[in-house]
Amino acid sequence: MEYILSEKEDECIFCNAISKNDDLTLFKGKDTLVMMNKFPYINGHLLVAPVRHVSALDQLSQYEKGELLASVDRSVRILKEAMHPDGFNVGLNLGKVAGAGVEDHLHFHIVPRWFGDTNALTVFADVRVIPEHLESTFENLKPYFGKLDLTIKN
Ligand SMILES: [Zn+2]
Repeated sequence: MEYILSEKEDECIFCNAISKNDDLTLFKGKDTLVMMNKFPYINGHLLVAPVRHVSALDQLSQYEKGELLASVDRSVRILKEAMHPDGFNVGLNLGKVAGAGVEDHLHFHIVPRWFGDTNALTVFADVRVIPEHLESTFENLKPYFGKLDLTIKN
């Protein structure tokens, strides 16, 4: 019930994450942020967004696009190290019809995958509020993102 009510509020979860402290946001950089999906498809489901509230890739500068992809890359590496998944689904849902829950603020989904998780995925899709998982996953991942350095190295 709390979820249904709060979802109707006209606030952007990403802009909120930048301006407030919460227990889902793992990384706040100059141009990007990384947060845990409050309603994950599976444990370790992350969202990577630009700091600016934009809905399309062509509204980002070349630099912001680079930072965004670098943040996706680093998040994948951190999940590999911390959670040892066998693979990943990384994607962008543009527009409601494509499944975007928050369509006004562009964000990448990073979904870690494990061999044999197909059944778990169906279960998680139905029961999507797993606070224990979120808390322990946050505690697990936070130190990695605390060390995150997005300085471009060639
Ligand atoms: Zn926003």
